[in-house]
Amino acid sequence: MFDFILCFAGASTLDSVVTPALTRFVENVFVYDMDIWTALEQSFGEDRHALNSSPVMLSFAVFERQPDGTRRRIVHTRVLALSNLRDARPWGLHIYQCHTCRAPAHNMIFHPDGHQFVGAKWLQTKIRYKCLACGASRRSISTPPWVHRSGEENFGRVWYAWPLSSDELKEIGVVSVVEDKPK
Ligand SMILES: [Zn+2]
Repeated sequence: MFDFILCFAGASTLDSVVTPALTRFVENVFVYDMDIWTALEQSFGEDRHALNSSPVMLSFAVFERQPDGTRRRIVHTRVLALSNLRDARPWGLHIYQCHTCRAPAHNMIFHPDGHQFVGAKWLQTKIRYKCLACGASRRSISTPPWVHRSGEENFGRVWYAWPLSSDELKEIGVVSVVEDKPK
């Protein structure tokens, strides 16, 4: 049994960058008794530098009322991330890969494509990419339906349930290791 598990999901973490948000998160939970997800959105979600340095993964338990009136303990695991096309992290996903050659995102160039929506509709903005490894490009890529907006404004904050399913991974160019390895 646990209340929550928080961990950093990026390649590396800079203590000095994430500590203020982490302190705020702990304060939100234990001092202000905030709902745990709200506590995360109102700490890391409001600290661009912290969230840009590393997505945060949170496992937390909630009691949900069932149709028969009983309450059941359900565990959710979500990743809160910052979308940053310039740093090759569309929807915060540094694991994005080229759909043609599977080159990693840092070998690709991402841009918004077509109309750029702002405010609460910002996730409707499509993206395009060009792969520097194989030269392939793709346009009009919609936000995957499992990527959710966090907050009302266009701050690039998103969340998704974790881990991603193999279909969801496929959508971002990642083919599971099991499928990749011929027997
Ligand atoms: Zn490629």
